[in-house]
Amino acid sequence: MAISVWEQSTYFAPKDLVIVGCGFVGLWTAYEAIHQNPKLQITILERGTIPSGASTRNAGFSCFGSVSELMSDIQLMGEAAMLETVKMRYDGLQRIQEVFKAKEIEYNQWGGYELFEGKKTVKSTKGKASKINKGTNAELYDISKLESDIAYLNKILAPALKTPKKNGKYLPIYTNASKDIQKLGFQGIEALAFNQLEGQLNSAKLVLALQKAVQAKGVQILFGTEVQKFKSHKKGVTITTNLEAPLETKQFLVCTNGFAKQLIPGLDVVPARGQVFVTEPIKNLKFKGCFHFDEGYYYFRNLGNRLLLGGARNADFKNEKTYSLETSATIQKVLEDFMMQRILPKGSKKPIIELRWSGTMGIGSIKKPIIEQVQPNVYCAVRMSGMGVAIAPIVAKKALKLMKG
Ligand SMILES: Cc1cc2nc3c(=O)[nH]c(=O)nc-3n(C[C@H](O)[C@H](O)[C@H](O)COP(=O)(O)OP(=O)(O)OC[C@H]3O[C@@H](n4cnc5c(N)ncnc54)[C@H](O)[C@@H]3O)c2cc1C
Repeated sequence: MAISVWEQSTYFAPKDLVIVGCGFVGLWTAYEAIHQNPKLQITILERGTIPSGASTRNAGFSCFGSVSELMSDIQLMGEAAMLETVKMRYDGLQRIQEVFKAKEIEYNQWGGYELFEGKKTVKSTKGKASKINKGTNAELYDISKLESDIAYLNKILAPALKTPKKNGKYLPIYTNASKDIQKLGFQGIEALAFNQLEGQLNSAKLVLALQKAVQAKGVQILFGTEVQKFKSHKKGVTITTNLEAPLETKQFLVCTNGFAKQLIPGLDVVPARGQVFVTEPIKNLKFKGCFHFDEGYYYFRNLGNRLLLGGARNADFKNEKTYSLETSATIQKVLEDFMMQRILPKGSKKPIIELRWSGTMGIGSIKKPIIEQVQPNVYCAVRMSGMGVAIAPIVAKKALKLMKG
């Protein structure tokens, strides 16, 4: 089918910027670009009929790091690199709240918690540390360090992030909330850390709000459009899709996160499946907020009075390195055990699982996004390392700065 003259002068007219991927990164980049220069002609190409990556399929946490995760990150990449990533997450979460009203994206700042199983399981052989962690290589966090780690993180993070102050002094970000364990109904948990600056949101509402905001400024979004290949040339880039004609653009930005290698094979990004489930409403659900366990590999929150639980990728790393959006019996079983053995009070009736799903994250050898030029006029902003809700607004600004340069 040939395109009409009308289509040629609109949908297929040459653009200033074409973005592939209608997730948080693609949308935030379009948002910042069109606000910086309302004259720009921008198109977003998305292969799904709705966005089909991680942005509408995550757990809806607005978090920037739990105590054990940040301490482990310092060991892996050093304090400065840890501070840099946490600052991106914190600033990104501030930007979301600056642009959108809490009600519009169902944002609730109920805080974030981290649960610890306790020192007594720490000394066991690797891989046998606890029932829940069976099969993983994770050494459990030594809770005798919790107080000093909290003090240390508060000291270095508050000035770096510029968190709220009272009477000229930074308020603590993390506090020891172990006294609340019983009240919250958890089992086998010996310590609890609380982060008062974290919250939860409705990810799909944030995607829709961003879509609405950019479309109101004239950004074109073409759903059901898969980028098959692209060719960089002197004046820009020619993009081939499943549509009837190629698209021409001055600059092309790849925001396909976990799928990035499908378009740019050399990148250090692999897909990592994140699995989630939601239960039926639970009478007297005892907690509100976002909860992390095992350096963030397990995460759960309340969704009204239902439980949303996800993660456990570390119980089967090999098989979770996949583009498949099925859920696996192995991971779902580990999550169900975790729900019954740790989250719900002892003797609770097992709730019905109403919905199970998965999403594709993009990870690599280091926990840092790749924002770089890959060919003349071709750029990428990918590998969100499971932090894209938080860092996307800042990644977008960095990508734009790079493209302007
Ligand atoms: C279960 C789960 C829990 C998570 N928890 C958190 C959390 O607590 N905090 C946090 O900050 N982040 C979390 N994340 C990660 C976060 O959701 C992602 O980092 C973020 O959504 C990535 O956004 P993105 O725009 O980079 O990619 P995506 O949202 O994946 O968007 C990429 C888009 O590109 C499209 N695409 C791919 N290839 C093509 C092509 N060739 N042509 C056209 N379109 C294409 C895809 O369909 C997709 O819609 C979680 C993710 C999952 C799955």
